Amino acid sequence: MNDKPNENKLVTVEKNILPVLILRGLVVFPNMALNFDISRKKSILAVEKAMNANQEIFVVAQKEINMERPKSKDLYDMGVVAKIRQILYQGGNILRVLIEGVKRAKSKNYFFDGEYVKSEIIICKSLSQNLNAKNKALLRKAKELFADYLSIYPKIPPDLLIGIKSIKDLGEISDYITSNIMLEYSEKQEILEELNTVKRIEKLLVFLNNELNILKIENDIAIKLKDSIDKNQKDYFLREQIRVISQELGEDDEPYYESRDYIKKIKKLNLDKDILKKLKSECDRFSKMPSGSSEASMCRSYIEECIGLPWNKRTRDSSNLEKVSEILDKNHFGLNEVKERISEILAVKKLTKNIKNQIICLVGPPGVGKTSIAKSISESLDKKFARVSLGGIKDESEIRGHRRTYIGAMPGRIISAIKKAGTKNPLVLLDEIDKLCKDYHGDPSAALLEVLDSEQNNKFLDHYIDIPFDLSEVFFITTANDKSEIPLPLYDRMEVINLYSYTYEEKFNIAKNHLIPKLLLKNGLSRRKFTIDDASIYYIIDCYTKEAGVREVERKISSIMRKAAKLILTTKNKSVNVNKKLVLKMLGPEKFKKEKINRKSEIGLVRGLAWTSVGGETMPIEVSLMKGKGKVQITGSLGDVMKESAQLAVSYIRSNYSKLGINQDFYNKTDIHIHAPEGAVQKDGPSAGVTMTTALVSALSNRPVRQDIAMTGEITLKGRVLPIGGLKEKTIAAYKAGVKTVIIPSENKNDLYNIDEKVKKSLHFIMAENLDTVFKNSLEK
Ligand code: ADP
Repeated sequence: MNDKPNENKLVTVEKNILPVLILRGLVVFPNMALNFDISRKKSILAVEKAMNANQEIFVVAQKEINMERPKSKDLYDMGVVAKIRQILYQGGNILRVLIEGVKRAKSKNYFFDGEYVKSEIIICKSLSQNLNAKNKALLRKAKELFADYLSIYPKIPPDLLIGIKSIKDLGEISDYITSNIMLEYSEKQEILEELNTVKRIEKLLVFLNNELNILKIENDIAIKLKDSIDKNQKDYFLREQIRVISQELGEDDEPYYESRDYIKKIKKLNLDKDILKKLKSECDRFSKMPSGSSEASMCRSYIEECIGLPWNKRTRDSSNLEKVSEILDKNHFGLNEVKERISEILAVKKLTKNIKNQIICLVGPPGVGKTSIAKSISESLDKKFARVSLGGIKDESEIRGHRRTYIGAMPGRIISAIKKAGTKNPLVLLDEIDKLCKDYHGDPSAALLEVLDSEQNNKFLDHYIDIPFDLSEVFFITTANDKSEIPLPLYDRMEVINLYSYTYEEKFNIAKNHLIPKLLLKNGLSRRKFTIDDASIYYIIDCYTKEAGVREVERKISSIMRKAAKLILTTKNKSVNVNKKLVLKMLGPEKFKKEKINRKSEIGLVRGLAWTSVGGETMPIEVSLMKGKGKVQITGSLGDVMKESAQLAVSYIRSNYSKLGINQDFYNKTDIHIHAPEGAVQKDGPSAGVTMTTALVSALSNRPVRQDIAMTGEITLKGRVLPIGGLKEKTIAAYKAGVKTVIIPSENKNDLYNIDEKVKKSLHFIMAENLDTVFKNSLEK
């Protein structure tokens, strides 16, 4: 059988003119009861007119929902003839109407009769179909989808399903379902207009299926939203409980309240906008953390660390240069050149107002006053002082801090020092910059370079703090024992000031005039209770210490004072007067015997002079000869450069044997052993060249060496004597050893200017240009 409806079979059963009720966004179907309010005057009049006649009215939808005064062309043609069942005046020009759709009808023409719209209508009949297999399937599918729809869409009562059970007509069921589901009014209108019932149900199935899909997606979203809201509510609820419990327990370290305090403190810091924003957001994060969690305690430390930084706190610098000189003189004996240089640098800073690019590096052995000078500078400039020890640092993060993701992360040493100083313009002493190490953790000197570089350090980024901090107002001073060990890029940026070993007299003066008064105060003693005679001070320096500076002297005197304090408290003694005997009693047996010079000349033993980072030393070189085949053996912890010096000496002697009175074939028949005693100490450098050569020549030519002589100098193959470094320390060592004459390279003549006056006066200097001069003065005939 052919399902296709024959359009010609549509029958117009009645022809009539009816009042028209125009609906907005609503489509009425046959057999559908609907109740709504109307307010447009024309509509009310149309309804009243219909009520007065046979209650029949043509109900039709307008095409555009927003149109207030639709014209004929703005209305659909297809609508329904409906019966008005009830009207109710609501007041305020509103009329509630209950209508029931009766049959589909089409308007032939709309016209306005001055009061309301009328239309001549043609009743349309749907073409029903036989219930063949396909139609049955369509019917069943429609019921099934509608059931699905009702199960998902919560706003429709599920008993609507009962209503469709008995319906067998495709058109009727389409109308029923359409009128009960949420569809766009334009889609509903499409269904209304379809007179072919098969096509109508097919259209409906498409719309319904679509609608179901949308509903499912909507449902999913709703469930997810509900879940997340539920979780938030649960968290909030639990947190509230914790808060109440901790309040009950009297614990007020609770993040929520703490964070409010932090925000108050942060606001007082007068921070830049960006920093303020970052810290506030951190507080915000913190406030939501459960109290007592590790995350909260990490966050708390971070916020406290940031609040503790002197973002905007500074002290007023004094610019009084006289005060600087005064304080340096008061606190430090001697060191005239150092004080002079410091005053000059500070004067330049004052004039140029440029603290940048002026990084002072104090270089010298331990205990010569580098740290204390830096402290005095900070005191004289009214700056706060902080010290950063760099010795042995091999990890960049020691300087720059660990990222917060590390457990136990902390800010680096620079930021910690600034925090300790409490101002953003302190004097920071970077101690032992020559002891930085480098390894796979990164290069700390690179980080330090950024700290010292005035172009970059106004935005120094510590990994922990993670907010740029301005270091440009910090006055950096560095110290080092050995300037050759300072990483070159750092060295280039620094103004090096050398501090040298102290002489015997200088040590005495420092001890007497500076250390003792300072230590008396520290140990709660006074000059009435404690005295020490000069001989004892000399004795301590001589027999209990061996150092370039005065640290050990300070320690020994301090130890004597402690013992004296104990004596005063535990015995009837009212005061203690220290003499040499008491020193011996208090400090125990002498640690160092004063070197005794062997006045008798010796073969194969020469006193050299060496420089180490902790001061100057005398370094004897011994040479012994044995029968053999020319083997040269070198012992005594000598470095490569010293071993080369020994080879050089041997070659020089071989090529000058006759001039030196040495057997030509000495080297075929003799084994040579060169030794530097005190073998545990590593020695290196070229300046032992003359010492080794002299010892070798003495041994090979059997000429004794004068023992009141010390020497230093590098040699060349041709016998020239080249200049050396560290002359000041070396001459002090010679002076201390009781040497009378020192042979030095003639090119070092100008360095004599820097040598201590006392040392200069008590030593005789011989300038050697070549080895001949050295031999002439040191070897006996
Ligand atoms: P460094 O930093 O060079 O190792 P310090 O500054 O720690 O040396 O000095 C050690 C001690 O010696 C300090 O108590 C210091 O006051 C004292 N000192 C060193 N040199 C002098 C000096 N020229 N005058 C007065 N005291 C000094």
